Amino acid sequence: MELGIAGRRAAVAAASKGLGFAAAAALAAEGVEVAICSRNADEIAAAAQRIGPNAIPMVGDVGTVAGAGAFIAEAGAALGGIDILVANAGGPPPGDFGAIADVDAYARAFELNALSTIAMCQATIPAMRDRQWGRVVAITSIAARQPIANLILSNTARAGLTGFLKTVAREVAADGVTVNSLQPGLHATERIAGLHGDAGGLGATVPAGRIGNPADFGRMVAFLCSESANYVTGTAIPVDGGADAGLQ
Ligand code: NAP
Repeated sequence: MELGIAGRRAAVAAASKGLGFAAAAALAAEGVEVAICSRNADEIAAAAQRIGPNAIPMVGDVGTVAGAGAFIAEAGAALGGIDILVANAGGPPPGDFGAIADVDAYARAFELNALSTIAMCQATIPAMRDRQWGRVVAITSIAARQPIANLILSNTARAGLTGFLKTVAREVAADGVTVNSLQPGLHATERIAGLHGDAGGLGATVPAGRIGNPADFGRMVAFLCSESANYVTGTAIPVDGGADAGLQ
């Protein structure tokens, strides 16, 4: 299927590994020029090399509003503009209400998983509106739909961000800019290995009988950035092998 986005320019945050890397690789495979960042210089350089000549590596920390803004400024300068934003960051630490007594932990999680994306949207969407074309895809979590035990920081921050994205999507829809989020369930990345140890047995907890392949997730991101997805906006789509049991 022809996605129609060759030559577009994308900023993909937190992309040396895992779902961000997969998104960048899928976009680059469609001929999109991608600026990618992570905090480790060697790892982001290696990731860009794996993706190929369409990838520009940048060292950046999108865990803060300032860091997110700096990444978008650097990416925009290198690419000559940003048509596609894939907003992503690492996940916050685990813990439940009883374990996380420090309210500042919530503030840090909000900065990492909500404010940083809001800052990246503020830095990219106005120019997308001016050009009458843009795509924003935020990588959030199935936790925004169905809170996950022992991840209260993620559950809380992602729900707030999802409200923001829906609101913005409706405001900018007439300007050719779509704003969506993808809500990953369990995928085979380092984050999941870190949270659950050996992810081998986790597949049995998912209706699909297995955990997800990040490369498939990356292609979902690329599809949402395609020309054909021009009428899909304001959605928050689970990519979870059927794990969410709700009706919507
Ligand atoms: P991952 O495998 O741990 O990869 C995270 C990537 O982000 C790495 O490239 C990492 O590189 C980079 N990164 C982390 N913090 C960063 C920061 N502050 N600034 C810039 N780059 C940063 O994680 P993942 O599984 O792909 O998860 C991506 C997002 O999806 C997370 O928010 C996670 O909570 C969410 N999620 C994932 C799953 C899943 O099944 N994988 C499920 C639900 C939600 P450096 O550490 O070198 O910076």
